[in-house]
Amino acid sequence: MDCLSKFINHSCDSNCRAEIWTVLGRERIRLVATKTICKDDPLEVDYRYPPLRDGGCQCGSDRCKYPSPKGLSPGGPNQP
Ligand SMILES: [Zn+2]
Repeated sequence: MDCLSKFINHSCDSNCRAEIWTVLGRERIRLVATKTICKDDPLEVDYRYPPLRDGGCQCGSDRCKYPSPKGLSPGGPNQP
């Protein structure tokens, strides 16, 4: 089964929040805008859990809650 929600990424400063609703006995996820979203803006939700990778969160937000550990870039250790 394909779902358009696969295009929604994480951001610590997201523009949407997810709500879980039960509709006719089935759980559904509803996205609610928390900021103005313009055409071509990516839809972003705060997943609310720490990143699984050692390189920290890669959302790129100035308000990131899980920044990369010092000396590491998202792609790996910094080169001299
Ligand atoms: Zn982040």
